[in-house]
Amino acid sequence: MKRIAVLGCTGSIGRQTIEVIRDRFDKYEVVALGCRGNLDAMIRQAQTLGTTTLLYASGEAIDGYRCYIGEDAMWRYAQEGDYDVLVVAVVGIAGLRPTLAALARSKIVLLANKETLVCGGNLVMTSQLMHEGVLLPIDSEHSALWQCLDNQVNRRTVKKLILTASGGALRDMPLEALSSASVADVLRHPNWRMGDKITVDCATMVNKGFEVIEAMHLFGVSLDRIQVLLHRQSVVHSMVQFADNSYLAQMAVADMRLPIQYALDYPERRSAIVDELDLTACPLTFAKVDDARYPSLGVVVDAAKRGSNASTAVNAADEVAVEAFLAGHIAYGKIHTILTHTASRFEGNARDIIDIELVDRDARRIAKEGICSL
Ligand code: MG
Repeated sequence: MKRIAVLGCTGSIGRQTIEVIRDRFDKYEVVALGCRGNLDAMIRQAQTLGTTTLLYASGEAIDGYRCYIGEDAMWRYAQEGDYDVLVVAVVGIAGLRPTLAALARSKIVLLANKETLVCGGNLVMTSQLMHEGVLLPIDSEHSALWQCLDNQVNRRTVKKLILTASGGALRDMPLEALSSASVADVLRHPNWRMGDKITVDCATMVNKGFEVIEAMHLFGVSLDRIQVLLHRQSVVHSMVQFADNSYLAQMAVADMRLPIQYALDYPERRSAIVDELDLTACPLTFAKVDDARYPSLGVVVDAAKRGSNASTAVNAADEVAVEAFLAGHIAYGKIHTILTHTASRFEGNARDIIDIELVDRDARRIAKEGICSL
């Protein structure tokens, strides 16, 4: 029995993780559930799963459960809880401390949280190495790369990592209409339904930029050897080009339950939860990313080249800018302006988590000032 703790259990990835686990009650036990504020949904999950420990940001203790309450609840649990696998599916920089705490205890971390590697990649990878913790990605692109790289012991045989991108909701909008795209336009993702923030990040390809940074850290491949290609069908989830110009690609229907299942069951492969792929349904196409349509992708990758502080800043600025866009305060085209404005103010690398949290706070302030002065 693997004992699993799910942080961010009421979000999209958290719920799908529980769905996968529910299929495998003989293998997995959910020992703890954590969320920010959706307590009713979490308690319902706990009742179905027989979970006894709950982690949440505020409120009273709940009868019949062991409760960790407070902003640092998940972090405290990660440091002392009795679990084998920590699923980090929270949003925001809140994922970083629990991840570091679990790795320091040589635990297995299933990571769905972007900020952990975008902001703290150096710290996380060093900690994993030092303590022999295990970090496994649950993102479709990184799971694909991981599967393609799995039997490649020597990273020098890797020429390029190729991340695929759907292109998001605005991939066919005329360029001149882009800067004033509406919230409804941006949230109409052609291939799947996710949370609002990540759907906007798909349209801008900021999400893909973050995935480039994550891939750099996870697989130890330099930025100049990571490429993004537009792949409208979302069938190939990413690929690896090797030194001999051989390519390995991973294909499946676009369903997050597959990367979750792969990480949970690793190193085994168990029977399918997701549907079969209809290989005859449509031709697969790949195209270069148009910089004019997706200028923010370049901003994120440039930030990564300049160090972890600029990466942390661009992540913080994106949260602020997307929130302002969704609230109707700024035009779509201004997201890019705010990212550029904020990222340019930071350089260097964070030495510890305090550094990261300071940069995150400063960058949010600068991004908000940037929005006010638009
Ligand atoms: Mg992804």
